[in-house]
Amino acid sequence: MTFAAASAPTKPLAPLAPALSLASFGGRGAKPRSVLDAGPSVMTTSGRVAIALALRAIGAGPGDTVLLPAYHSASMVPPVRDCGATPVFYPVGRDGSIDVAAIAPGAKALLVTHYFGFLQQMQAIRARCDAAGIALIEDCAHAFFGEEVGVHGHYAIASSMKFYPAYDGGCLVGPNPPMLRSAGMGFELKAILATLEHSFAYGRLRALDLLMRLPMLAKDAIWPLLRKAPLAPASSDSEPGFDRRWLDKRASLMARFQLRAVSAPRIVARRRANYLRLLAAVADLPGCRPLHAVLPDGVCPWLFPLFVDDADAVFARLHGEGVPLVRFGEGVATCANSLTLARQLLSLPCHQELREDELAWIVERLRAALRA
Ligand SMILES: *Cc1c(COP(=O)(O)O)cnc(C)c1O
Repeated sequence: MTFAAASAPTKPLAPLAPALSLASFGGRGAKPRSVLDAGPSVMTTSGRVAIALALRAIGAGPGDTVLLPAYHSASMVPPVRDCGATPVFYPVGRDGSIDVAAIAPGAKALLVTHYFGFLQQMQAIRARCDAAGIALIEDCAHAFFGEEVGVHGHYAIASSMKFYPAYDGGCLVGPNPPMLRSAGMGFELKAILATLEHSFAYGRLRALDLLMRLPMLAKDAIWPLLRKAPLAPASSDSEPGFDRRWLDKRASLMARFQLRAVSAPRIVARRRANYLRLLAAVADLPGCRPLHAVLPDGVCPWLFPLFVDDADAVFARLHGEGVPLVRFGEGVATCANSLTLARQLLSLPCHQELREDELAWIVERLRAALRA
């Protein structure tokens, strides 16, 4: 495989999100605990829909305040507005941690995010919420796996598509989960095809790719129709849109199949190994420092976030070379730390489906960009 980018590529040369391969299904070991073990759960098409369902279960509505972290994903805000409540941002520390003392009474609910898979001090946060009469929604969008993820909130939400090679998928964990139904054959088909297309685009499932050349010709005929239909739940890789028609829809068969068939021990082990690899790769470099220089036991990271002094220039260079990376999150003016996190953090993938040659190339490009 070569990684020569002629000009700024429209898509990264290595997958930013997991791409399904045969290796996805192989892997040994005990199944690690995940957010789905934290209580009764239901699979939604996205994490933001799960936030909306949690707010509905809590009874949030007009006149209510919902506390969101100042450093946040744009996708966390529309579900709050959709139920008629008012989002209010609370400040976060330099590493995104919550200052428990800053949780004031009066709000209906509070969302707390385990940024990049690293857990917040949930016991203290829960105690404070209980004392203040605030419902706690644990946002595990970045933390699908772990002993404690999702157990401290009254409700928890997650985004399984951030960890599995799926096109859609989120979940709501909490008492009396609602009954959801399939979004229909068109959506089920689209979820399968989009998953395969992402894999083929990165040279995965080669044999299947060849086998499917013919059916894919047929697919080319139906694909434009599927594309036009309102079949896509707004999801991590698209805009932060929100569409209430997805509230009563279940995750695709493909997304739910993956939860059973894709190796979870492999996801956790490889993400941790790749994270440590990236950590070691930047240890001696100037102008940067990892958000988390230690990977605690049990943490399954979403990405590898790195503070970069000259973040704009380094991002532009790496992006132009086709290196997969993102700047996660937005900040608000009332919290300087949130603006710094949004501006200075560059996050590289550490997911389980990065191949050795891809990771080595990412490391090599990253080191070159930071030395420049
Ligand atoms: C991605 C994300 C969500 C929403 O998940 P989707 O599946 O994209 O709807 C919620 N919270 C955080 C912190 C996220 O990063």
